[in-house]
Amino acid sequence: MNDYKDIWIFAEQRNGKLMNVAIEILGEARKLADKKGVNVGAVLIGHNVENLSKDLISFGADIVYVVDNPLLSNYTTEGYAKAISELANEYKPEVILYGATFIGRDLAPRIASKLKTGLTADCTGLDIDENGLLLQTRPAFGGNLMATIKCPDKRPQMSTVRPGVMKRAIRDDTRDGKVIKFDADINESDIRTKILSIVKEAKNVVNLEEADIIVSGGRGIGGPDGFNIIKELADVLGGVVGASRATVDAGWITSDHQVGQTGKTVRPKLYIACGISGAIQHLAGMSNSGTIVAINKNPDAPIFKVADYGIVGDLFKVIPVLIEEIKKLK
Ligand SMILES: Cc1cc2nc3c(=O)[nH]c(=O)nc-3n(C[C@H](O)[C@H](O)[C@H](O)COP(=O)(O)OP(=O)(O)OC[C@H]3O[C@@H](n4cnc5c(N)ncnc54)[C@H](O)[C@@H]3O)c2cc1C
Repeated sequence: MNDYKDIWIFAEQRNGKLMNVAIEILGEARKLADKKGVNVGAVLIGHNVENLSKDLISFGADIVYVVDNPLLSNYTTEGYAKAISELANEYKPEVILYGATFIGRDLAPRIASKLKTGLTADCTGLDIDENGLLLQTRPAFGGNLMATIKCPDKRPQMSTVRPGVMKRAIRDDTRDGKVIKFDADINESDIRTKILSIVKEAKNVVNLEEADIIVSGGRGIGGPDGFNIIKELADVLGGVVGASRATVDAGWITSDHQVGQTGKTVRPKLYIACGISGAIQHLAGMSNSGTIVAINKNPDAPIFKVADYGIVGDLFKVIPVLIEEIKKLK
């Protein structure tokens, strides 16, 4: 057990571009590693991706482990799981963090089972306890309970971390680090999944997690047409449209707009909640926003407890005035 040290992150990249969540978990890993006095390792897997090492070091990695292999150019569960398990057996990290993306959620349990260790999925909080163990906190039972989980006897301790919850690492181009190239023993026969083609659905993807400004509508908008006014406000502010689950369940808007515990976790500079009551499951996804503005006709709505600015009134009267005033300022 004492052979295991350092805190690693899986630096997920797609088409040679680092995923945001990799930079978020790198920021978190840096904090945890500083608390324990150990190094941060970033695991970079793919083909022709070594150039990303520099970014990873600037964002806080001390060591970047690169497994570069043409067989790993596209993500496959078996290829990536084998590469990371071999790497972990060789260099013995004490902790490995993954973003809870589709890839991270697919990959981490495979590795946990190969390494016969514990895994906590979809964590929203991480810390180190007095014995140096990783405290992994995640919502359980539909968010009604926060469970804190430890993995005392097996290594590495592993978690997937919900995207958007941790703060992005801050870039510092003066940082130094080491790059270790690792030759994983990967053969074509190891990878039973054959990728025939990757299809990108060309829909208007709503990128809530990266938006600086989000204007969200809730049941208070009255129906699907209510989103017109929400969109108008979002447009004048250069923001995107979010939604409560009630509106998604009602079929007023698609689920990729949903903010909250079972939707996206967002951290924009400005979040405007219009006709949203502020149920705990909604707050779970937006309460870390920079500035929160709530528009609601019920002065007792719980959303006002987290709002920096509150307007008690009918959103259909308030929003047009806001739009007018914002246009005048432009
Ligand atoms: C396991 C689980 C997971 C969940 N996950 C999520 C999640 O991810 N995201 C999420 O949002 N919810 C989630 N929910 C649902 C959540 O509990 C609430 O039901 C939901 O957030 C309520 O949405 P709402 O605020 O739009 O609607 P309501 O609670 O009905 O609130 C509507 C608000 O609009 C106001 N209003 C009405 N008319 C006007 C008007 N003309 N002008 C101004 N204000 C007006 C009302 O005063 C009220 O406060 C989850 C629930 C469960 C059990």
